[in-house]
Amino acid sequence: MNTHAYFHYHFHPVGQGLFASGCLYQSNIEQPRFLWVYDCGSVSFQSEDKWKPLIDGLKQSAQGKACINLLTLSHFDKDHITGVTALLKEFTVDTLLLPYVPLWERLGEVFAMNVTLSSAEMSYLIDPVTFLRDLAASRGGIRRIVLVLPSNGEAPAPEEGRPAFPPDGPWTLEGRMRKADAADPLVADFGNAVGVELLPSGAALKVESLWEFVAYNKPRGDVTEEFKAAVNHMTEALLRGPKEERAKVLAGLKALYESTVARTNHNIISLFLYAGPIYPSWEACKLLYGEANMLPSSDYGRLSFQISATNQCSVLYSGDGYLTEDDFDHMKTSFGPKRLSLLGVFQVCHHGSRANWHKGLADKLQPHVSVFSSDPNQGGTHHPHAEVLRDFWPYRPVQVNTEGYALGGLLIFPPPSPSTTSTALAAHAAPPDTPSLEELAVEGGDTLHGDAYWMARILACLREHQGREIV
Ligand SMILES: [Zn+2]
Repeated sequence: MNTHAYFHYHFHPVGQGLFASGCLYQSNIEQPRFLWVYDCGSVSFQSEDKWKPLIDGLKQSAQGKACINLLTLSHFDKDHITGVTALLKEFTVDTLLLPYVPLWERLGEVFAMNVTLSSAEMSYLIDPVTFLRDLAASRGGIRRIVLVLPSNGEAPAPEEGRPAFPPDGPWTLEGRMRKADAADPLVADFGNAVGVELLPSGAALKVESLWEFVAYNKPRGDVTEEFKAAVNHMTEALLRGPKEERAKVLAGLKALYESTVARTNHNIISLFLYAGPIYPSWEACKLLYGEANMLPSSDYGRLSFQISATNQCSVLYSGDGYLTEDDFDHMKTSFGPKRLSLLGVFQVCHHGSRANWHKGLADKLQPHVSVFSSDPNQGGTHHPHAEVLRDFWPYRPVQVNTEGYALGGLLIFPPPSPSTTSTALAAHAAPPDTPSLEELAVEGGDTLHGDAYWMARILACLREHQGREIV
């Protein structure tokens, strides 16, 4: 019987932007079972050919699996979505996760970014669902779109009991979504969103009994119904009115917006995503991290690992989210304090900008690794800012710019014996059904690419650590 499952997190090198992926495997690392991507964009990579090696790399490491099980786009800024076109050319998407953001707020982005009428960004911001469906249509498309509703502070209940090993069949993503119909005011507000599913606050998305994703969409201030109606009316004219009138309508919309809504930082929209093993079943799981810098050309030359404490294996992606003290408290309540105590990896908000952070944030999260995805020389923003980096200094800050970074780990299913302590851990640390790196090399290990090759290295490393006390 299988007793192990594996996972990895990968932060790809995209300069000033973010492109993160992760994967779950059953015992055979050549067969990825569940692949996810969080954001895929960069201001450093404007042209599609820049994306090609990275997307090809992801495809290779997925061993030909041309389906992303979960694609999450945190928000609508260029530096988080410019690679999506290239991504959707190569992959089909099973579930696309987007934050529900009302039209009037998306228009805030239009004005903040000075988006022009005829640009792709305009179509995306006005009607994200149609835009993304059209983009994916030439390939296999997107099977379902899930909008994450703003959080009311309710956290998903923790799972009780012990996990059953996931079945052989395809691993699926389940959640307590409801299908939206045309009469739903939220749907009317989100462009052509009939058929999308809505994920309420306090609901997790689960991959079998193995893994959970919890999304957090920070609630924002409200505006009057009159304002919303005026915005909807004018947007209709923008989309379907006479072409020559459109520039005028847009200017009117901008004036209405600026006279009504206080000027806010447009990066305020960003969906947080927590991913990790379903607790508290996992008394024995490990996260490996270290000098695993990875070049786009898959140069895996410099690998040396450390093994983290058990149980603290999860990842929190923040996109360009804000975490002031109040924001942090609300987010913590919405994830549940236990989840945040399990963080192995934190993607630091907004490329390490001081505006999205507060002093002491790092001590509250205490991740094993903190990832800064940015190019300090790009665009005059100089991310990450020194004070943010200093705050995260004890938590292994890693700069992802021209070199990527990856981590991996192992989940050990509790054996039937009464104890799952270090003895059991040692006994299970070297999975008998998984070939060693040496065996892989003999049996055609050179056919393993990208993350699969890297997972083989992790397994070899785990074997070396077999039986040692984990710190
Ligand atoms: Zn950004």
